[in-house]
Amino acid sequence: MGLADKVLQGDVRAAARLMRDIEDGTPVAVEALSNLYPHTGRAHVVGITGAPGVGKSTLVDTVISVLRQRNMTVGVVAIDPSSPFTGGAILGDRVRMQKHGTDQGVFIRSLATRGCSGGLSKATISTVHVMDAMSKDIVLVETVGVGQAEIDITKVADTSVLVLTPGMGDAIQVMKAGILEAADIFVINKADQDGAQGVKGELQAMLDMKNYLSGDWKPAIVLTEAINNQGAEELVEEILRHRQFLISSGGLEKRRRERARLELIEAIETTITNCVANEMDKDYVEKLVENLVQRKTSPNSAALEIINRTIKQLTAHDG
Ligand code: GDP
Repeated sequence: MGLADKVLQGDVRAAARLMRDIEDGTPVAVEALSNLYPHTGRAHVVGITGAPGVGKSTLVDTVISVLRQRNMTVGVVAIDPSSPFTGGAILGDRVRMQKHGTDQGVFIRSLATRGCSGGLSKATISTVHVMDAMSKDIVLVETVGVGQAEIDITKVADTSVLVLTPGMGDAIQVMKAGILEAADIFVINKADQDGAQGVKGELQAMLDMKNYLSGDWKPAIVLTEAINNQGAEELVEEILRHRQFLISSGGLEKRRRERARLELIEAIETTITNCVANEMDKDYVEKLVENLVQRKTSPNSAALEIINRTIKQLTAHDG
């Protein structure tokens, strides 16, 4: 039985193996993902983003519990920006989420981004697809919000949750507009600390300045104390309310279409890169490099020449 079939039958070890293959970018992973693709599109994908230390992992933990109480199955993709400074984060995630480790209805996977924000979306989307194919109802994607990452995750998520904490009031003022635009739900975690209402007020004032049309989704602001298991119920309510909104407004269809487009473009890039790498002969490349050095051609022209030649070779193989 192939890897994809095993995953579809709920084989957890096969799923874990496939996710490792996805990270390593093996041909086996590409084939299995192609076979799984028709079985995806059912899970609701929730991005949970925020600066390091705002309490995302703790919050995700409490959200899992609430979803499980409601008999929903859950996948978690914890994206770990494996910089030298956060080297221990993967282990931390595992320890924190250990209490769900024996629950068959929960599947947790940490993904290293290797400091490449462009690489985030592809491995993430693929891993989400696997969890989707495993019939998880909700897939939570937890990312550290640094720079581009917040924006990227909104391309992958059906519902985007931005986690803030008291004392971040000033930060909101300077926050990139795109991040605030992209959030469907705002969470102010650590509401046990001073200043939560203040941040809520500033956030609310900022949202009130936007001109919503009737029928637009107005982002909710939820106060949580993840550490005390407070607020997760309300957050889950909002996530499910947003899902319902997306379904009834046609927004879900739109977001998924955008995601499919993004995946197509990434697949084109990968396919071309792989084909060229496989078909290219070294002497030929060296010749082009020499031409570049001598300014007889430009990098773009040389690239086009290589791609054209590769296509010719591929079509010759087929014929
Ligand atoms: P992450 O880096 O965003 O995943 O944050 P963590 O979940 O690792 O939490 C960072 C720290 O904040 C940990 O020490 C948590 O125990 C603590 N923390 C999480 N939620 C709360 C909360 O609601 N209140 C307080 N006071 N601390 C919290």
